[in-house]
Amino acid sequence: MPMPIRILPDEIASQIAAGEVVERPSSVVKELVENALDANATSVSITILGAGKQLIEIADDGTGIAPDELPLAVTRHATSKLATADDLFHIQTLGFRGEALASIGSVSRTIITSRIENSNVGMQLVVDGGVVQAQKEIGAPQGTVIRVENLFGNVPARLKFLKKDVTERRHIDALVTRYALAYPQVRFRLEQEGKLALQTTGNGNRREVLASLYSAEIARKMLEVDAQYEDFRMTGFISPTNVTRGRRTEITFFVNGRWVQDSSLTTALVRAYHTLLMVGRFPIAALFIEIPSEEVDVNVHPAKAEVRFRHRDRIFSDVQRSVRRALLAHTPVPEITTQMQWTPTPPVASTQETPIWEMTPDEQKKGDLPMPQPGPADVPAQPELPTDRVPLLRLIGQVATAYLIAEGPDGLYLIDQHAAHERVLFEKFMAQRNNSIASQALLSPETVELSVQQTRLLEDQLPALQKLGFTVESFGPHTFLIRAIPALLSGMQPSAALRVLVEDFEEDETPLQAEIEAKIVARVCKRAAVKAGQVLAPEAQQALIRDLEACASPRTCPHGRPTMIHLSVDLLERQFGRRGAR
Ligand code: ADP
Ligand code: MG
Repeated sequence: MPMPIRILPDEIASQIAAGEVVERPSSVVKELVENALDANATSVSITILGAGKQLIEIADDGTGIAPDELPLAVTRHATSKLATADDLFHIQTLGFRGEALASIGSVSRTIITSRIENSNVGMQLVVDGGVVQAQKEIGAPQGTVIRVENLFGNVPARLKFLKKDVTERRHIDALVTRYALAYPQVRFRLEQEGKLALQTTGNGNRREVLASLYSAEIARKMLEVDAQYEDFRMTGFISPTNVTRGRRTEITFFVNGRWVQDSSLTTALVRAYHTLLMVGRFPIAALFIEIPSEEVDVNVHPAKAEVRFRHRDRIFSDVQRSVRRALLAHTPVPEITTQMQWTPTPPVASTQETPIWEMTPDEQKKGDLPMPQPGPADVPAQPELPTDRVPLLRLIGQVATAYLIAEGPDGLYLIDQHAAHERVLFEKFMAQRNNSIASQALLSPETVELSVQQTRLLEDQLPALQKLGFTVESFGPHTFLIRAIPALLSGMQPSAALRVLVEDFEEDETPLQAEIEAKIVARVCKRAAVKAGQVLAPEAQQALIRDLEACASPRTCPHGRPTMIHLSVDLLERQFGRRGAR
């Protein structure tokens, strides 16, 4: 027998809606911060415990909620921000759906304390699992404090979908830092697990906020954007071409004060950098677009993270030319590094071998060196070649200060000195790791200042770094002290070595610890290895070749790029028309 159709009780309806509005702790933070901003707060203070599952508290000094309206605020579809259907097309506030407080209240125990300006006493309301428990008068400063306890405590299924605490905390960091940047005239304070994660002054200076998010150095380097095309206005900051990230996560767009995730905006930005960045690198950007409210439909998604533009193509091209103009104004001579124009292949420390690349007659005809192809199917068969070690090589010399030429039992080897050195360092590191890695104490410890998010990332990886020979300790909120670095890196500036590591740490769930270490090592080796363009003394060339011969996987760098190209005698003979000529 099917169940009869019924209208769901309000609590259940709210819980269902809550699934869309509050997906994770950071969504709660987002809704509550937006409410505070809508209430014209000048100060927003956020306290997080247990990655938000135990407590999220947001205190603001905004207009407050009138005592008699408090129960309404936690009712579904109750809002003070929208009166007519027509208003929906001229939204000036961040909220308008009247769903957030009801949703949050249905999946937690929420305590709202609020006092409006002309009242001398505040009011407090407790909602537990969607049911209003109690309401009482209470002394309170003007503004609103919302305490969300035991989030998802009554929806265990949802708790299971949350990521590790570090990840949830990172989402909260990311969210609050972005709002701090978008609203520099508002004082933000974020405390996570008893530690201050972010504090801004609210003096309206965005570059100052940037400095607290990244570092003073990056904030100084960021380029200002301020462009206007008719009723499109875009302000904010973009990184110069030499400050980049390995992923797009540090690209932020706000549209009319609302953080939006829109891939076409990101694409427009990245395109504007076209040819100015190395392949696989992305800019950092925080851009704030203002357009007439009727140009953008914000009512597309319950979490309001997606928007629909009425004239998408126009916005796209306005973003692109604003960025391009700012870049060209600040970057007179674009520098193109061809050295990095390969597409990285993912496996790090993979045991799978990439075969040596050889020119086919066709490729030779085109006059190009073969490009590494990812699939082994494309590789010309080389039956006699050993697939693993390289044979003993006789060094001939260095060409173009980037490659070594050597002769082997079967022809010529062209070796990329940077990739080869990366491989050598990588294997030395990984070999030492099994015992203990030689560490070298610094005569004078060096300090490094990091951004909020980098701090969190580094803290997570401190044990792994310790194992790899770094001695790094916390030294102030976002500052670390480097006491020792791996002896293999003694030629590198310690702070540079550490920065490289932090820069690209995985954003989300961290894989196996062993993999992290391999990644860290690969990254450091990349930075520590000799560069193309570096003249090597004959002894150094010789040593590099000997070291490479000793490697277990000499044919690729730790990032999967080939270290060498082999031109077999057979191939040479064919090319010179001595054998099998057409
Ligand atoms: P919405 O923001 O879409 O209107 P919410 O559920 O987030 O819906 O909030 C409901 C109402 O409660 C808001 O319209 C507003 O009037 C009031 N409110 C919520 N948070 C605050 C706050 N921090 N300060 C003042 N009023 C608030
Ligand atoms: Mg709201």
